[in-house]
Amino acid sequence: MCGICVPHCPTFALTQNEADGPRGRISLALGLSSGQLTADTPIVDHLDHCLSCLACESVCPSQVQYGSLIDDVRDALATGAFATTTDQPALPAAAQRHWAFLRNHLFSQRQAFGHLWSILSFLEYLRIGGFIRARGGRFGRTLPPELPDRFHPSQAKTRQPAANRHTARKKVGLFIGCTGESLNSDAVRASIRVLQALGYAVETPKAQVCCGAMHQHGGDSARAVQLRAENRQVFSDPELAAIIVIGSACTAELLREPHSIPVLEITEFLAGIPEADWPALQPNTARVAIHLPCSQTRVLKQPGSTERLLRKIPALTLLPLATNDRCCGAAGLHVLMYPEQADALRRPKLTEIDTLEPDFVVSANIGCATHIAAGLGVPVRHPVELVAWALD
Ligand code: SF4
Ligand code: SF4
Repeated sequence: MCGICVPHCPTFALTQNEADGPRGRISLALGLSSGQLTADTPIVDHLDHCLSCLACESVCPSQVQYGSLIDDVRDALATGAFATTTDQPALPAAAQRHWAFLRNHLFSQRQAFGHLWSILSFLEYLRIGGFIRARGGRFGRTLPPELPDRFHPSQAKTRQPAANRHTARKKVGLFIGCTGESLNSDAVRASIRVLQALGYAVETPKAQVCCGAMHQHGGDSARAVQLRAENRQVFSDPELAAIIVIGSACTAELLREPHSIPVLEITEFLAGIPEADWPALQPNTARVAIHLPCSQTRVLKQPGSTERLLRKIPALTLLPLATNDRCCGAAGLHVLMYPEQADALRRPKLTEIDTLEPDFVVSANIGCATHIAAGLGVPVRHPVELVAWALD
């Protein structure tokens, strides 16, 4: 109850309401669990607007495990575990029927989202993609100006030869996430290209499933546990030297479970490869603003990995954002469920990027990248894409 975390909370900064900050939310959770409060809409709303960004947990001197606490509260709210004053329990947004349907049958389904991507690409080809962007609500507005080609894991073959058989060292598994076939397909191709150039054989199992982040933070942690178990099974090949994960949020989720094979976020993995093992990288004189997702800084605790990786490319000007201490507002499905709060949280970041006038922004998480790109005229890329360009 010391309140040290409160000024670090982005949602408290927006409203200046104690109930929208970590200490207030902990008090609400205590009130619900003791039965002093009932789970009615205003209380559920204060809890549900939390971004799970962990800015509070990372500064707490008492090491309060706020992230676990808010996940447990959302689970309890979704299952109606707390008393209410009405017959209809107030549910957090992610547990409401239409959001739960979209989460379970579209956003967390790589292939379903990939099929949707193929349809959108066809509409784009027919020159009616603008209609989707204009009339597709929040989802339409976040579509990039040019849709990247769909990536099919079958194109990558189950076991790819390394680019240089003589230097081939080891085989790694590649976790591509729910958007790997669609929104994030450029980063997937770039990752395979870079790993192969470094002499790694890359396996991209078709049977891999969602990491479970949307479920873990959306009131369905039981499903998240099942998904993590499926992925553990899919990536159990003892020949794999490591499981490389493209998204920082996905890495954080997979690491909730112990794996017999090391799980590493790709910027951290590549940044750790000794200089002597790298092929020559072409200079690039671009100015690159670095956005750091909360999952990369606060959960994985690797705030320097993107910068260390990009420093391998000669002549780049790297511009880490001063606003990296604040969540951009994407926060998984939060950007779709609470678009006004998401836009308000993004605003200072866009202002800073405009001032820096970069050629690119990079982010190691596709959710943040998409949310930031939707408000900018500057391309937002995964850092590994810049490394792949420097190989050519
Ligand atoms: S969560 Fe930690 S920092 Fe925040 S009020 Fe409680 S003890 Fe203080
Ligand atoms: S996780 Fe982030 S949004 Fe939620 S209470 Fe903590 S600092 Fe605030």
